[in-house]
Amino acid sequence: MTTRRETGMAAPHRVLILGAGYAGMAAAIQLAARTKGREDVRVTLVNPQERFTERLRLHTVATGQQVAEMNIPKLLEGTGARFVRGWVTAMDANARIVRIDDDRVLHYDTLVYGLGGVADTTTVRGVEEHAYTLDSAQDAEVLAERLARLGRGTVVVGGSGLTGVESAAEIAERHPGLNVVLLGRQEPGAAMGPRPKAYLRATLTRLGVQVRSGIEVVGVRPDSIELAGGESVAADVVLWTSGTRVSPLAAAAGLTVDERGRVVTDAALRSVSHPDVYAVGDAAAIRQGYGVMHGTCQGGMPTGVHAAVSIVRALDGKRPKPFRFGYYHTPVSLGRHDAVVQFTHPDDSPRRVYLTGRIAARYKETVTASPWPTYGRMKRLPTSGAFWPRGGRFTRVRGVR
Ligand SMILES: Cc1cc2nc3c(=O)[nH]c(=O)nc-3n(C[C@H](O)[C@H](O)[C@H](O)COP(=O)(O)OP(=O)(O)OC[C@H]3O[C@@H](n4cnc5c(N)ncnc54)[C@H](O)[C@@H]3O)c2cc1C
Repeated sequence: MTTRRETGMAAPHRVLILGAGYAGMAAAIQLAARTKGREDVRVTLVNPQERFTERLRLHTVATGQQVAEMNIPKLLEGTGARFVRGWVTAMDANARIVRIDDDRVLHYDTLVYGLGGVADTTTVRGVEEHAYTLDSAQDAEVLAERLARLGRGTVVVGGSGLTGVESAAEIAERHPGLNVVLLGRQEPGAAMGPRPKAYLRATLTRLGVQVRSGIEVVGVRPDSIELAGGESVAADVVLWTSGTRVSPLAAAAGLTVDERGRVVTDAALRSVSHPDVYAVGDAAAIRQGYGVMHGTCQGGMPTGVHAAVSIVRALDGKRPKPFRFGYYHTPVSLGRHDAVVQFTHPDDSPRRVYLTGRIAARYKETVTASPWPTYGRMKRLPTSGAFWPRGGRFTRVRGVR
């Protein structure tokens, strides 16, 4: 076989994408579709499983509901992109290598870092040992088995953010025999307007969820949860959804990270310390006019698409453009038949408009189901993935064009 060196062809530019979550998948499909047939680029996607994890449905998986099988290598078929199944154990950002499961080494010219985040189980004593989490499909399945065996008893959901709210509602609806307690610092739906917030609260009550806010959890034991002030709440099962933590790999590799370990990016989503690394989704600290983006699927997918478009522009000798994104909604499921959708300003503050009830549940389901078909469409027509609200004046950063 004639080698590229013998024919005088340059080696292909190796783009390595770490993590096939919502953001990494968007980057991989977008990049594969835009570089299909090109000999000068090689795209590789690394993920621990071939099956795509729909994180947005993990609270339903945790209550024993079936979700569709979505196969990542199958979706990549015909694009030329390669899938590597593995767990990233280390990165060397200067040598441009990534280690997988300790023995394999992958080299890159450009890296897309999309390893997401997980519930922070490190800040409260006993959480790591005794609490369940919703960080992976396996975690959710283990919890589902436990809940199915429990029959009667108390489930405490620690963390009253939206994942905690959705999980508590889902468990209460699917297991009416269980006593469900939602504990956290903030009021459920704290960032919503007064009416959607009141609806959310009333629905949790209707479902039988006991809500306690203004609570500081200081410890988790095998059969209880300890609160600041000395109170102890009996718990047969504790689900922990409070706070998020990112992989320590970026910081260990010397990339500039923020106080939460997320990769700090420039306006084009490149690492400020290592511009050959793009960071996307929950693993990135991306500044917009309104502040640093918080982790969501609605913002994560556009970051993946933007990174892919920027990489293609750079390959073609063009300058990457700044990333801009404005939030537009906060849809929250409350069991299978009810939900609240708070429409938002681009900075995520609530508008007056909201939906509740069955129409909101249908809206939420449409949003949750949309990423996978979106990837399929992007594979055929990459530009179809390039539409999202840019946020107007809310996202304009002074001096960045
Ligand atoms: C129950 C639940 C409900 C949610 N509901 C909503 C919602 O309604 N709307 C919304 O916008 N957001 C929601 N979120 C948040 C949303 O899921 C995240 O913001 C989103 O998944 C972030 O996408 P990502 O691609 O950055 O990370 P992820 O989707 O977490 O993907 C990261 C990927 O990287 C892989 N990975 C991690 N570490 C390694 C490693 N060392 N080696 C190899 N691979 C690795 C993971 O396996 C995963 O495939 C919800 C989250 C949960 C848990």
